[in-house]
Amino acid sequence: MPELPEVEAIRQDLIAMDLKGQEIESVIAFNERTLSPTEKMAWDVFFQSPRRIISIERKGKWLLLKLAGGTLFIHLRMSGKLRLTESRRPMTHERARLVIKGGASLSFIDPRKFGRIVLIEKEDASPSIGIDPTEGTFTEEALLSLLSKGQTAIKTWLLDQKKISGLGNIYVDEALFRAGIHPEHPVSRLSLAKKKLLYRSIVGTIQEAIKHRGTSLGTTNQNYSGIHKARGSHQDHLFVYSRQGKPCKKCRTPIEKVRFRGRGTHFCPSCQKPVH
Ligand SMILES: [Zn+2]
Repeated sequence: MPELPEVEAIRQDLIAMDLKGQEIESVIAFNERTLSPTEKMAWDVFFQSPRRIISIERKGKWLLLKLAGGTLFIHLRMSGKLRLTESRRPMTHERARLVIKGGASLSFIDPRKFGRIVLIEKEDASPSIGIDPTEGTFTEEALLSLLSKGQTAIKTWLLDQKKISGLGNIYVDEALFRAGIHPEHPVSRLSLAKKKLLYRSIVGTIQEAIKHRGTSLGTTNQNYSGIHKARGSHQDHLFVYSRQGKPCKKCRTPIEKVRFRGRGTHFCPSCQKPVH
């Protein structure tokens, strides 16, 4: 499932394609529920004349196409991808298409159909979610302040997009390993030193994963890849995620995988001691 670094890699692909400044002529739905609003009329009215792309941004896991007079919020959910197409016929698993004036179209491919493209008829709109760890406002003080109100287990807290946006199962497990914090550790019982270490771990994990253009595990069509089908390489740098049974890169103890609140959770039982 694409998380912040994967969506950022896609955003960088779109910027490299010089999409900024081009115009979207229309948005076509092949699966009605992919678009919100679902009524075709709302989209036809908005795109009565082409809309120029002013900027391509991201907040958390949302890709934001800021247009003249409105914003498209794109969420890839479990298996969404963007692809370029010149063909008029829908591609396999294509759920929607952004038709670019005088150029190739952007196809929204989504085998599992959970992805969404949301039209907000407001220029420069942004989703109301928590702070994104790549934003300048994500400081150590900001994290300490947010954590001071935390009452859940740290993994649950980090996955909550209303607290911090963009982290999912992979990068939460990785950041907690780097900070030496057990995933079930209550936020309220974290020491100040651990909280500060967690801040550096989140920033470091995300920066490295962006540099590696995200994590591409497995080879199925549900796996993440960039617009030009390039895979990320962060899977070669993971400490715990999907490494169950393999030796910890720090202490050689086998990495464990448990189910925690319904999520596969990977950790080193020696480097990340549980609290009693
Ligand atoms: Zn270890």
